[in-house]
Amino acid sequence: MSFRLAITSVAALLTAGIPAGLATGAAQAQQEAPEVTSTDLGDGLYMLSTGMAGNLALLTGEDGAVMVDDQLPNTGALIEGAVVEIAGESAPRFIVNTHWHGDHTGGNAHFAEQGSTIAAHHNIRRRLDEADQEWAQNPAILPIITFGQDLTFHMNGQTVEVVHVPNAHTDGDAFVYFREADVLHMGDVMFSGLFPYIDLSAGGSVDGYIAAMEQALAMVGDDTRIIPGHGPLSTPAELEASIAMVREASFRVRTLVEGGADLEALREAEPLADLHDDWNWGFITTDRFVQTLYNDAVGNAYSYE
Ligand SMILES: [Zn+2]
Repeated sequence: MSFRLAITSVAALLTAGIPAGLATGAAQAQQEAPEVTSTDLGDGLYMLSTGMAGNLALLTGEDGAVMVDDQLPNTGALIEGAVVEIAGESAPRFIVNTHWHGDHTGGNAHFAEQGSTIAAHHNIRRRLDEADQEWAQNPAILPIITFGQDLTFHMNGQTVEVVHVPNAHTDGDAFVYFREADVLHMGDVMFSGLFPYIDLSAGGSVDGYIAAMEQALAMVGDDTRIIPGHGPLSTPAELEASIAMVREASFRVRTLVEGGADLEALREAEPLADLHDDWNWGFITTDRFVQTLYNDAVGNAYSYE
């Protein structure tokens, strides 16, 4: 199924003060009116994606709907259309945010104003509360239930386990595991087939990112389906490939930095040249990933310039 909504300027929407997690590259990749694609995962569970912002999960059933993330400030009606079509209700009973970036929490106010209850890690609420971007100024964006380590929903025959992973993509990331359906939403701790964005300005770290991916790998079985924050529905093998890539890339950059390389020397050395064709994309280019690994290695609290 797909649902369409005309948004006259995706680029304007994307530059309307969304935190850096939102890709200018995504805007370039998606100049058409966005549409929602839904993938039926069975057990009343769906993956929703638009290709322009974070992937969603929607669990439906007699107990009401639970949704993971809600995309952008201006896509509320688009996502709502998909929710109505699939779940038969306009506002999910609960929404869980995987982290605070505006391409995952931007729809919070839209759905909260219609009655959804939003739950998230303590640091997501704090970062949204402190954000000075215009889209974050509506108090309805703030989750009204917050947690530190974990939170579990028991609905629609599913045990929905929300688990915090520290200092990975940000300092407020959570995985959401639908135990009976055997589906794991990893938020932006998984960019499938893409160089990941690691937000050093929001408490993310390279080592934490790798540790969190390894934690996910320990949670999954051979048949687990993984919903990445960005990219297609994925397998544990694809998660393993991402872990190996980030490990190797980080090792190469750290080795050069320990040998005295500054950013200019790193760029000249092109340590990720052989990874470019497989992992480079519009938002996190090879150069931006080199910068992120460099800034992490030297302790700078920003990912790239
Ligand atoms: Zn993000």
